[in-house]
Amino acid sequence: MDFRKELFSGRDPYDTEGTDALFAAAVRENARYHAAHCPEYRAILEDFGFSPDELQTTADLGRLPFLPTAFLKTHRLFSMPRARMPIVASSSGTSGKASEIGMDFGSLVSGAKMVRRVFAPRGILSARPCHYVVFGYEPRISNRAAAAKTAFGYTFLAPALSRVFALRYREGKYVPDLDAVIRAFERQEKSPFPTRTIGFPAYTVFAMKRMRERGIRLRLPPGSKIMLGGGWKQFWREAVDKNELYRLAEETLGVPEDEIIECYGAAEHPILYCDCARHHFHIPIYSRVLIRDARTLEVLPIGRVGLVNLITPMIRATPVTSVLTDDLGILHPAEECGCGVKSPWLEILGRVGLADVKTCAAGAAELLGEGAGT
Ligand SMILES: [Zn+2]
Repeated sequence: MDFRKELFSGRDPYDTEGTDALFAAAVRENARYHAAHCPEYRAILEDFGFSPDELQTTADLGRLPFLPTAFLKTHRLFSMPRARMPIVASSSGTSGKASEIGMDFGSLVSGAKMVRRVFAPRGILSARPCHYVVFGYEPRISNRAAAAKTAFGYTFLAPALSRVFALRYREGKYVPDLDAVIRAFERQEKSPFPTRTIGFPAYTVFAMKRMRERGIRLRLPPGSKIMLGGGWKQFWREAVDKNELYRLAEETLGVPEDEIIECYGAAEHPILYCDCARHHFHIPIYSRVLIRDARTLEVLPIGRVGLVNLITPMIRATPVTSVLTDDLGILHPAEECGCGVKSPWLEILGRVGLADVKTCAAGAAELLGEGAGT
């Protein structure tokens, strides 16, 4: 049985309740695969005395041993030879270390189906051409950061008339060029086609703030969208209130709030979380999210704040079935949004001081013995 294929072929991307049994089966199948093909992963499961066969329902997901993202940044784990991975993505590694996540062909097919289903309600897949402003890295062969690939990938969701990058590669490093972006916006205001911006929220806000300072007020053509993704990274202190961001977009670019779309994801967990019309990240059928106590790592009930544990059976090349991020978050019941989407939603509150996560990463490293998997 290929439960992954069945899960990623689901029609309603937010019917988590209706897909619980299928999800548990797909995770069991995925964990079995990794245990059979990745010796380090098998060692971790054995150390916890856990067998994938114990995964019978989604209630068992919390017992599946997880890998902290901090651990994946120092250990390369693969469950198949590199030759069978069309893509190896790395996290952006703001701390200098990056994880490398292999993507097998089946995971790419699954990902393509997911992107279609998740983006459909927000009108992102379109045959109408547009101009792209990427608040991210100009592509280079050597830049394997998942964020760069993702942002560039987004410029294929509707045909591209032009692409402008906010982070340009000059003399060996990336430098922001917000003035070039503002000049592009000024040209695009006169175009018959809409503009889409894509990428880091911080740079998007920096550009709009600079426009406000200079008194530049544009009206981008109808249908223009602002797409935010990649997180705030090192700019947590700059994180503006979302309502302030919506006001800025309306004032400087003439883009209304319902055309502002935010996405959440991670190299170690390439599931697409796209916000709903009320800007909440509902959990799609392709993943489940657990919130864990930052100290005890126990699974917390819905409504409590803790570390975000992301689970998906999407990838066979790297054992990222269950990863513990260093993001702090909270799960809300669907009714607390009220937009009509049936699944609970995840609110990201920030990033923890890394000490706790490092502790569990070190714990996992110890399990593998010195230097294993690096
Ligand atoms: Zn909603």
